[in-house]
Amino acid sequence: MTRRTDDRADGPRDANEAAVTRRDFVTAGAAGLGAAALLDSGGAEAQVVAGGGAAIRWDHEFDVVVVGAGCAGLTAAIRARDLGASVLVVEAAFDVGGRMLHSGSFVSLGAGDPVQRRDMRGERDAEGRIQVDPIEDPAELDDSVDLLFTDVTDWSIVDRHGYSPYRYNERDLMRAWAENCPATRQFLLDNYVRFGRINGTHSGGGMSRARGAVCFLMLGDQTDMKAGTVTAEDAGQADPERSSAFAPVQMDNASRVVGPGAFSNGAALARPLEFSAREKGVRFMLNRGFDELVREQPSAGKIVGIKASYTPRRHPETGALLPSYWQNGNVDEQREVVHIRARRGVVLACGGHAGNPEVRSMFHPGMREPMFPTSAIATLGPRVQDASALKAGLKVGANLAGMQQNLILSLTYHVSTRLGTRDAYIPMMPGHPAFGFRGSCGVSVGAAGFEELIAVNQVGKRFFNEVRLIARTGGNRYPGGGIAPHPGIEHKPRDWRNCSHEWLRTTYDYDHGIEAALAINEGSKAPHYYSGPIWAIFDQATVERTGWKLRYPYVADNGYSFKADTLEELAAKIEKGNEFQRVPLAHLGKTVATWNSYVDAGADPEFEREKDGAMHGVATAPFYALSIMIVWHDSYGGLRVDGRQRVIDMQGEVIPGLFAGGEAAGGFDKHGLGKGTVQGFIAGTHAVAETRA
Ligand SMILES: Cc1cc2nc3c(=O)[nH]c(=O)nc-3n(C[C@H](O)[C@H](O)[C@H](O)COP(=O)(O)OP(=O)(O)OC[C@H]3O[C@@H](n4cnc5c(N)ncnc54)[C@H](O)[C@@H]3O)c2cc1C
Repeated sequence: MTRRTDDRADGPRDANEAAVTRRDFVTAGAAGLGAAALLDSGGAEAQVVAGGGAAIRWDHEFDVVVVGAGCAGLTAAIRARDLGASVLVVEAAFDVGGRMLHSGSFVSLGAGDPVQRRDMRGERDAEGRIQVDPIEDPAELDDSVDLLFTDVTDWSIVDRHGYSPYRYNERDLMRAWAENCPATRQFLLDNYVRFGRINGTHSGGGMSRARGAVCFLMLGDQTDMKAGTVTAEDAGQADPERSSAFAPVQMDNASRVVGPGAFSNGAALARPLEFSAREKGVRFMLNRGFDELVREQPSAGKIVGIKASYTPRRHPETGALLPSYWQNGNVDEQREVVHIRARRGVVLACGGHAGNPEVRSMFHPGMREPMFPTSAIATLGPRVQDASALKAGLKVGANLAGMQQNLILSLTYHVSTRLGTRDAYIPMMPGHPAFGFRGSCGVSVGAAGFEELIAVNQVGKRFFNEVRLIARTGGNRYPGGGIAPHPGIEHKPRDWRNCSHEWLRTTYDYDHGIEAALAINEGSKAPHYYSGPIWAIFDQATVERTGWKLRYPYVADNGYSFKADTLEELAAKIEKGNEFQRVPLAHLGKTVATWNSYVDAGADPEFEREKDGAMHGVATAPFYALSIMIVWHDSYGGLRVDGRQRVIDMQGEVIPGLFAGGEAAGGFDKHGLGKGTVQGFIAGTHAVAETRA
């Protein structure tokens, strides 16, 4: 199946369309407090709608309203639909998939899930696509709910900077998650998702067993989710410089975990789920940003719906509305503001807060600098990870949980080795409709590339040893992940030796480059004292030595890449061309001259770089500057939820009708997709069980 823009016959068929009713109506009782009055009420919305939201003019009505079409949202929606509910997914972006779509699709579950059991028995997948033998020994796959639960609440595990994330995980949440891992893996398999061999475990997935596998599709003549195939063009394999609308990031060769012809990444998880959701009759309202929850009383009663605004994503050059990959099941709604009633429940699955500098700076004041966005700002738009769930939840009295988990630094914020683009987390190429929002793919220089350049701050001064700037500490991982436990230390669940003094001394090897990058410098001004952008500076000799591709689509004239014949001209171009460069790079010329003298002397008295890598001069015109980005990976912490994903208020009471999952929910240090898919599955299950409003 190839992509079509407006032809229902080519998308997945809607199995139960008649059961899903789109309504444009005014509920009884609206008289006296009409739509206009409500729409004008702004932030006081939840307070105005006393009495079951009866005064609201509901524009649409569904049993379950899911906010966000990422991994938590899609799984919640499909699950609720499977259980007979009419379901609307409200999504701020123009397409479905959230961050899952550009992820690595490494889904870590466990507790004896069906893929672990398959590999343990040495079997292939049901379709016989998997050609390679299991990667893990059967003993590494022999898992149980109890072991998984023990693992993910283990007080004794410390990561490489001495932090112990598992001990802070909420226990009821972890138990429910562990219990639902096997069912969720089966649910994903039942919705056209294919998994390769289990291979290690993701951070947050416990230390005792192998639990993670990537999703794959086979290269074929057609992109067909039922058959599990993708064309070379859609997989991004036909042209090394093109992504596709199907997969914003080119898919990876998965032959090691599947066999020849297999390709993996988030598209192999997101697109099958989306296809299945549409086929089953889930409806999608895209380009629609959720603003607020509607509760019966300001701090009491059931959540009965949401308010959401039109957030169209238009092509940056043509102004045309960007199309979603599939269209069937889309609800065409272009009014500025609509109210959507949820008869049974609202599931908040609209991601985290890492894209909101005001919220994330709770954990790292330096990350208040807005230069640095979260991943996929091009694809998902300015509302990506803007803390929408937290903001709306707090307004109706919700509590928060696990916010301190953001401090597991290696997985939270770090320096990207992709230079010259603001969206430095993912290598999107032209061919995806949102490419224009980033303008360039960026130049992936790898860790070794940092030996070829100097890094300067917004005033043009070096601030750290470049080679160590990108060092990331290890998380708490299954041994197969290759990071921890340290060689020589055998992991035993809940064993004090996992966090003994000796182990802590061995592991505490954190490089503070990122702190130096985000530090106050001479250009930092009141009130926020932003640290400003960071620039990689190098010369023509570097380009010739490395072969870096400094041309479109890797770099572009978009404010993140500059070239000039002199350093003075380079500094002036950066100041004029980058929106976050607020001060002149006054020291650039002197910094480069000093650096060149260090290169001649073979020693860097400021940052001891000679100890860690090569030193190359910056002396041959033309000179170059590429942006260096700090990226904030997952958001940890979010709305407090119980084992049914019900949102809990500050009195410890359930907020009826409100659920949250994925990065919108807190209390669980687990990375990514394993957390989101299971929590969506649980939320969908229990949202349907709510009494009707
Ligand atoms: C490059 C990369 C690779 C990764 N690889 C892996 C991996 O291999 N394995 C793994 O486990 N994890 C991985 N992750 C992490 C994982 O992708 C995310 O943690 C996970 O997808 C988050 O899912 P979510 O549903 O909670 O949120 P999101 O994916 O953020 O989805 C939220 C959705 O809600 C929408 N939204 C936001 N605000 C609103 C609003 N106000 N109204 C309506 N809609 C809104 C967003 O547009 C988005 O579509 C990776 C992340 C990145 C960036």
